[in-house]
Amino acid sequence: MDLTSLDTESLLTLTRRLLAVNRKSLPRLEALDTGKHIYQGNPCKYGHSGKRYTNSQKCVSCHKHTTVEWRKKHVESRNRSST
Ligand SMILES: [Zn+2]
Repeated sequence: MDLTSLDTESLLTLTRRLLAVNRKSLPRLEALDTGKHIYQGNPCKYGHSGKRYTNSQKCVSCHKHTTVEWRKKHVESRNRSST
């Protein structure tokens, strides 16, 4: 892309977009730098607080929820089969 052919308004729009993308991933980069396992990111689609694992970027609350659900199912089915 030839940036010199763009007018000021287009350049501003482009800059804002780039900044928005950077801002999105900045907390995770900071967490990576400081060696934190969890960082404060954007709230997930289920409306959780936005705490995410640095490695996977996955929502901590969702992860806990799925783990609990899995364990429930697993324990239930094991109990059922033992009786
Ligand atoms: Zn979540």
